[in-house]
Amino acid sequence: MAFDFLQDKDRIFTNVYGFQSWDLKASRQRGDWDNTADIIKRGNDKIIEEMKASGLRGRGGAGFPTGLKWSFMPKESPDGRPSFLVINADESEPGSCKDREILRNDPHKLIEGALIAGFAMRARAAYIYIRGEYIMEAKVMEAAVKEAYDAGLIGKNAAKSGYDFDVFVHRGAGAYICGEETAMIESLEGKKGQPRLKPPFPAGAGLYGCPTTVNNVESIAVVPTIMRRGASWFASFGREGNHGTKLFQVSGHVDKPAVFEEAMSIPFKDMIEKHCGGITGGWDNLLAVIPGGSSVPLVPAEQIMDAPMDFDGLKDLGSGLGTAAVIVMDKSTDIVRAISRLAYFYKHESCGQCTPCREGTGWMWRVMEKMRDGDADIEDIDTLYEVTKQVEGHTICALGDAAAWPIQGLIRHFRPEMERRIREHKGEEMMEAAE
Ligand code: NAD
Ligand code: SF4
Repeated sequence: MAFDFLQDKDRIFTNVYGFQSWDLKASRQRGDWDNTADIIKRGNDKIIEEMKASGLRGRGGAGFPTGLKWSFMPKESPDGRPSFLVINADESEPGSCKDREILRNDPHKLIEGALIAGFAMRARAAYIYIRGEYIMEAKVMEAAVKEAYDAGLIGKNAAKSGYDFDVFVHRGAGAYICGEETAMIESLEGKKGQPRLKPPFPAGAGLYGCPTTVNNVESIAVVPTIMRRGASWFASFGREGNHGTKLFQVSGHVDKPAVFEEAMSIPFKDMIEKHCGGITGGWDNLLAVIPGGSSVPLVPAEQIMDAPMDFDGLKDLGSGLGTAAVIVMDKSTDIVRAISRLAYFYKHESCGQCTPCREGTGWMWRVMEKMRDGDADIEDIDTLYEVTKQVEGHTICALGDAAAWPIQGLIRHFRPEMERRIREHKGEEMMEAAE
């Protein structure tokens, strides 16, 4: 059955390429801040119910149901402590670049979303934690927040709703691990950004020990549109359990790398044909795809073609949708070298707090370098796989899994290539010895 591509009238992000201004006047013309008080007057619980009905799953990578997450926040303030919303704009996953487009081209969608989400979960304020390298985006965000304060849309009696709500922009300092929600909370508190053990989850004890929800930029920026068009409209896109529209980011060996909004569950091949002009050198030239940012295992060409681009479809292939950062690799790619480079990234970004990750990421990277050069033994492949299994699931945060999974995917699908390099290298060594 042919896939129904998203039509222009159904797009949420109509300024994703920045053809229009990001400012308040232009944002209002695009429909933002239109009777926001009416949405707020529906009440906290009604908004949360609407979010649950929309089927929105978190857009930061994990895909946890957003409305359910909001419902974990307390209705009554424990001990008079305030509640907070933290917006994760520390977009650092290799391949991910969608939140950047929202921050710099549609900041008012995020601020309005923060007000509605913050109200629903009874939060006193939102902190937008922006990746340190996003300098221009932070400047736009700060200017947009000032505009919103000046227009009375946030602050006291925000948007004439009777609700007081502050928004603060906070800049990170370039550490990937601060994108992990509890490391982000530590960093906001002025401490070294290191993940905390969960539970307790942030809704129980988050920023300054207060109830906190951490949501991704896209998850919050879609909230005003869901409230205006209705949960059933959003839920009409995508398959059961994978609803809505989504910003996809495609990089690598396609004719036109792009960030675009599409309906969830679009088949991979249709998506690349429609939005990216096809694979460089044609479909026969496709080698493999990392479909969800570097933290998920790669999928070989023959398996990905008809796969629905959603959480469950990619999970069925042993991978994941993650942030929907699709990295396409054609047959010119040195796949072992590519995964070895990712291993270096995780080794570099490990916070070093827990032993399996601190020691394991360094060990895996060193062995991957040897695999890249063919300077290993065939048995080392099994040892490497075993070590990834020792790291996976044995660490405080998901960085350990993220370091293990790309290597597991490589061994699962490209073991013959790893073995070929080792044999070739050994052959060269023997030739040299014979000479
Ligand atoms: P997670 O599954 O541990 O948690 C997801 C969210 O659900 C969290 O907010 C967590 O607090 C909440 N949650 C989960 N179980 C809960 C429970 N029982 N009670 C209350 N709340 C609960 O995943 P994570 O560590 O937050 O995220 C991992 C993902 O992040 C990876 O899959 C990766 O794709 C993604 N990631 C994204 C970026 C980026 O730049 N956007 C960078 C690195 C990783
Ligand atoms: Fe730090 Fe790695 Fe442990 Fe996460 S898994 S807390 S990054 S050492």
